[in-house]
Amino acid sequence: MWDVVIVGARVAGAATALLQARRGARVLLVDRVRFPSDTLSTHQVQPAGIDMLERWGLLKAVGNAPGHERVRFDIDGIVIDGAFPQRGRLYSPRRTVLDAALVEAAAGAGAEVVQGYHVAGLLRADDGRVVGIRGRDGSEHRAGLVVGADGKHSLVAREVGARTVVEAPVRTVASYSYWEGVELGHGELYHRRGRAVAAFPTNDGLTMVYACAPLDEFDTWRRDPERSLLDSLGNCGDLGARVRAGRRIERVRTTNDLPNRVRQATGPGWALVGDARMVMDPVTAQGISNALRDAEQVVDRTAMFRTTQRIARLRPPGAILRPLLRAVAGSEARTTRFLGVFAGTVPPRITTAWLAGGRSRTPRAACPR
Ligand SMILES: Cc1cc2nc3c(=O)[nH]c(=O)nc-3n(C[C@H](O)[C@H](O)[C@H](O)COP(=O)(O)OP(=O)(O)OC[C@H]3O[C@@H](n4cnc5c(N)ncnc54)[C@H](O)[C@@H]3O)c2cc1C
Repeated sequence: MWDVVIVGARVAGAATALLQARRGARVLLVDRVRFPSDTLSTHQVQPAGIDMLERWGLLKAVGNAPGHERVRFDIDGIVIDGAFPQRGRLYSPRRTVLDAALVEAAAGAGAEVVQGYHVAGLLRADDGRVVGIRGRDGSEHRAGLVVGADGKHSLVAREVGARTVVEAPVRTVASYSYWEGVELGHGELYHRRGRAVAAFPTNDGLTMVYACAPLDEFDTWRRDPERSLLDSLGNCGDLGARVRAGRRIERVRTTNDLPNRVRQATGPGWALVGDARMVMDPVTAQGISNALRDAEQVVDRTAMFRTTQRIARLRPPGAILRPLLRAVAGSEARTTRFLGVFAGTVPPRITTAWLAGGRSRTPRAACPR
């Protein structure tokens, strides 16, 4: 019996597994693919997402992708070129790099990771509550909570019948690929009538170039995606010339599978995170940061639930908790953070791991300052 079983091990699933395992939960993380594995996605991680990776000690998950404090945004000739607030940095790590590093970190935190495991269905109790997963191989895993981090076509969402809360039509078709030898400082974004274009430095000195067009151009666009992509740069200053001066080193990937949808996030025994919960057109590059945020939120909520169950047993603090509570009592700053958790103004991250007792791995090192 697991505390949490997570279906899907990319940004949403691996981050959820990592954070749950760090709080002492018994976590099973499964994915039908094996990592490193690419997926149809460009990969700007907004400063809010980078901030989370940094807080979790995982900024290294971006590999050798460079970070930039600035971005250049040209909207129909109006150029907004400047820095993110609070010295935030944007990185654009390849998903082969980022996802694999998160999976490795989740395993390092104590989550059991099973790759090449295809979930075929969910297990239910008599009252309909979700109590586990069933694999294509016939194996079953029971859990207190099943998290669907299985992307926009989520099997978990389908099986539990998660309601669609908001939906908008598919609006764009998008293509992207990778070039070497492109002169590019920080990221560049262009919005023109009927086109959006992005060029960002990524791992190994490569440049990712992305363009999208209205969905009703799909048939003409896909006849020659490379041409469609490069023609879209024609109206973006000298970006087209700089990209053509480089060399494309991977195939052009094209998709119109770009839904916009928000689903009900939780139900009895289940929760959805990442694209399974909310998916939107990638034109604003929010999905990865949203997935990381979801992971933190679902973990904070379940951590507080577990903490409450411990406290409600009304037992005196044990051998691990007692010295930690003394450490809190002896510091004004720690006391404020500790009280903030119950006040609802400080996320219950580290403090609840102490209170959960017993299986907190490094309670002393984890003392909030
Ligand atoms: C063209 C494009 C460009 C994008 N660009 C950006 C960008 O620049 N920045 C950004 O932030 N976001 C971008 N996004 C969005 C981003 O890709 C998603 O938001 C993000 O991948 C969501 O992560 P996730 O972990 O929720 O799901 P996913 O990345 O979809 O991962 C789901 C995982 O679940 C696994 N899975 C599914 N079903 C099963 C099953 N039955 N059994 C076992 N495993 C299963 C899959 O194998 C997969 O590994 C882009 C998307 C597209 C399509």
